[in-house]
Amino acid sequence: MGLLDGKTALVAGVANKDSIAWAVTMALVREGARVALTYQNERLEGRVRNLAQECDPPLPCFQMDATIDEDVTKAFGAIGQEFGGKLDMLVHSIAFARKEDLAGGIVETSSEGFKLAQEVSAYTLISLMRGALPLMKAAGGGSVVTLSYLGGERVVPNYNVMGICKAALESAVRYLAWDTGKHNIRVNAVSAGPIKTLAARGISGFTTVLDQVAAKAPLGRNVTQEEVGNACLFLLSPWASGITGEVLYVDAGYNIMGM
Ligand code: NAD
Repeated sequence: MGLLDGKTALVAGVANKDSIAWAVTMALVREGARVALTYQNERLEGRVRNLAQECDPPLPCFQMDATIDEDVTKAFGAIGQEFGGKLDMLVHSIAFARKEDLAGGIVETSSEGFKLAQEVSAYTLISLMRGALPLMKAAGGGSVVTLSYLGGERVVPNYNVMGICKAALESAVRYLAWDTGKHNIRVNAVSAGPIKTLAARGISGFTTVLDQVAAKAPLGRNVTQEEVGNACLFLLSPWASGITGEVLYVDAGYNIMGM
């Protein structure tokens, strides 16, 4: 018996096997959930479909650029069909900023770069929840998890515009939790420690961040995708039924340190 037998989940944000979203998918599948994946575009389709084929049964995959309304509507239509009009869980593991906005001075951030990063990294939690709402209402409630980072509340050099996006994302978590709690929907964030992924590689000086965490975190190391995946699983599961609007740190304890 799995913890999530008979439950349905949509995971948005798998790019490859290193993606945090893939570790969340593995944890959900392990616990018996039926999982559907979305991939951003044709460039990622092959890789995501190959990963989906590794599961037994293979996971259904749908294309969805989260910034395109028609894509979101179409994808949630297909997911509704796949899961009989109901959805229990949503994982939002999506972020993007231009490389030039993840280095140097924040004062150089262009309006265009700022808007793009905010739209992809914060607003899409709202638009995806809008897509999920009817399906979660039909299921009698739901649980949503997004991925954040400490750079949203403290200064992490070079994280720059993405830090501002994560601040907006964490605030969106609280407003969405308030707005959808009446439908028995919970919304939480996991604030993950740094992990080498495709997205992280775009951040200037990322290796220094990994070294700093390993040197200073109480556990004396970095976290793994699996650890983050398991924490997301907890928040998505009935074990977290009394928790909403929260940010849970999965960072080997780094965030508690003052020095
Ligand atoms: P990743 O590159 O594997 O995942 C990022 C995903 O965002 C990709 O699948 C990409 O396709 C998707 N994406 C970007 N723009 C999109 C769009 N317009 N529509 C749909 N999808 C889009 O990297 P990751 O590190 O697994 O990132 C997942 C989340 O975890 C992000 O929110 C990231 O900020 C967060 N996070 C990462 C770390 C880290 O160190 N890796 C730490 C804390 C939080």
